[in-house]
Amino acid sequence: MSTAQTEVPISNTDIVNQVEDLKITATEEPHHHRNHHIHHLLHKYNTSKDTENEDENVDQDSCCPRTPVTFGPSPTVGDTHGLARLLKNNRMWSRAIRERQPDFFEKGSKGQQPKVFWIGCSDSRVPENELLQLAPGEVFTHRNIANVVVSTDLNCLSVLQYAVEVLKVEQVVVCGHYGCGGVAAAMGDHSYGLIDHWLANIKEVKQQHQHNLETIKDEEERCRALVEINCRNSVLAVAKSPIMKSAWDRGQNVEIVGVVYDIQTGLLSELGYHVASMDDLSRHLRVDSNALFAARKDNAEALQQQS
Ligand SMILES: [Zn+2]
Repeated sequence: MSTAQTEVPISNTDIVNQVEDLKITATEEPHHHRNHHIHHLLHKYNTSKDTENEDENVDQDSCCPRTPVTFGPSPTVGDTHGLARLLKNNRMWSRAIRERQPDFFEKGSKGQQPKVFWIGCSDSRVPENELLQLAPGEVFTHRNIANVVVSTDLNCLSVLQYAVEVLKVEQVVVCGHYGCGGVAAAMGDHSYGLIDHWLANIKEVKQQHQHNLETIKDEEERCRALVEINCRNSVLAVAKSPIMKSAWDRGQNVEIVGVVYDIQTGLLSELGYHVASMDDLSRHLRVDSNALFAARKDNAEALQQQS
């Protein structure tokens, strides 16, 4: 039979009261002694509080335990806060994946080996992982407004360099999308402030093809054409970067492809902009605006005849 004395559990209110009593009345006790006592009681209080809240930490749908707040204080985070919904979704997602593959996250935490580098628009309707049906770890991503690639954007170029030189991706996919707000804004003359500097890149593409764009009378169709041409411009900007030249010079197997996503159908289409070498790049650069728009018209007519 154990002779060890078991501590009689006391309520949190009792503990708080005892701490207050010690602070106020125990003046005869040596200072360090009193502080030690307070510390001990507070530790007990915190431990019992964690146990008390354990049930609340489990969602009603018996999902995984609530993720802890690692830095505080965060007084606004609670059940009524918008973040609660996101955290709940996240727990359900994590749980669903672990149910299918228990070691999924453990394996993934050891490193990534994506074969695809995706350059797309920030638009929330174009989620690359989802529309490609690729799992976390399978696509490396850079997104900005209207999937613009310019040689002065250190952010984009750094991601490209990492993708090509470190991850050794095999495909750089540049994806434009119909209904792109950035492209539509660049098509018009309205001023949006700071973002105009970014849109200037697309306006430049528009000016290069102004004559051919003007031949398209329907405004939506003209926007679609600029989406495609803007995508082509980004494909060529990636191909022209010293990062790609070095990769091809080394004999690395990496290609750049241009695709367009239709938010009305959820479908991706190839745009015929495919660059896998410096020779390919030269060939693309020799195609002038008239030839480009003529080819676009031919393709559209051929597609119409098929359907
Ligand atoms: Zn967009």
